[in-house]
Amino acid sequence: MNVVLVNGYGRSGSTVIEAVLSKRSEIFPVGEMRNIWERGLLGYRCSCERSILDCDFWSKVIGSVSDEKSLADFFLKMESIRYKYDRIRNFWKIQSLERVPDDLQWYIKKHEEMYEIICDESNKSIVLDSSKNPTHAAILSKSKRINIKNIHLVRHPRAVVYSWSRKKIRKESPDLSFMPRHSFYKSSALWLVMNAQSEKVMGENFFLRYEDFVNSPEDAIKSLREYIGCSGHGEPVNNLHTIGGNPVKFDSGFTNIKPDMEWKKKQRKLDAALTWAMTFWMAKKYGYSYDG
Ligand SMILES: [Zn+2]
Repeated sequence: MNVVLVNGYGRSGSTVIEAVLSKRSEIFPVGEMRNIWERGLLGYRCSCERSILDCDFWSKVIGSVSDEKSLADFFLKMESIRYKYDRIRNFWKIQSLERVPDDLQWYIKKHEEMYEIICDESNKSIVLDSSKNPTHAAILSKSKRINIKNIHLVRHPRAVVYSWSRKKIRKESPDLSFMPRHSFYKSSALWLVMNAQSEKVMGENFFLRYEDFVNSPEDAIKSLREYIGCSGHGEPVNNLHTIGGNPVKFDSGFTNIKPDMEWKKKQRKLDAALTWAMTFWMAKKYGYSYDG
């Protein structure tokens, strides 16, 4: 089965790309698949507004691959394996694993089965998984049944760091809690690590800058469709069942793509300078300068 994985660091604009790519095509977007277990157990909602454990779509998909008495037990089992292996610090170890441990093998097999059922249920042939954490990609690359196309999504480090510093309500959380915030230091360090890892995932990898996408979406979509091997003529996805992502997903009228450049004006000068001091050597490689 065909799965497109978006890799990179959070707040890089994957929700916009997900929405545009899957608008009319053979693609079905699932959001951040790697987070479904934890969020499901914590009572988070799917984009259909029902809690993940009560959502018809996910109950059907996960219910068909579960071998546990209850769905919650299966979520717990999956999350415990996810937590054991799918960590930033395990990336290189998993990339070079020659023998996959039995529990991880089982976890991968469950993903193979789920992706297959997602395609059957949605009537689409490609699953778009915007998990972003490159370790998720490293784990899935061990599967012989999943045909993976990676997208390495990069956004200007100052824009990403600025976004992680802002207060945002997590609309899909049960108590409308705030999304986590990071200091410039933490998000700059994670920007470096996650992008370095995303460059090295196994298999085909398409490099995409968020800024190029929003400035010229038609060209970017054309290249992406060629890479993925899909058309722009599929049936629209009527019922979205995505996990996590940027809160923008819950706002209606999502049609015009506008570059979000608020960071240029509003980021504190000191944060901007320190972020750039930490990340410039890698950012320059991706074609960025201090201001854009
Ligand atoms: Zn749903």
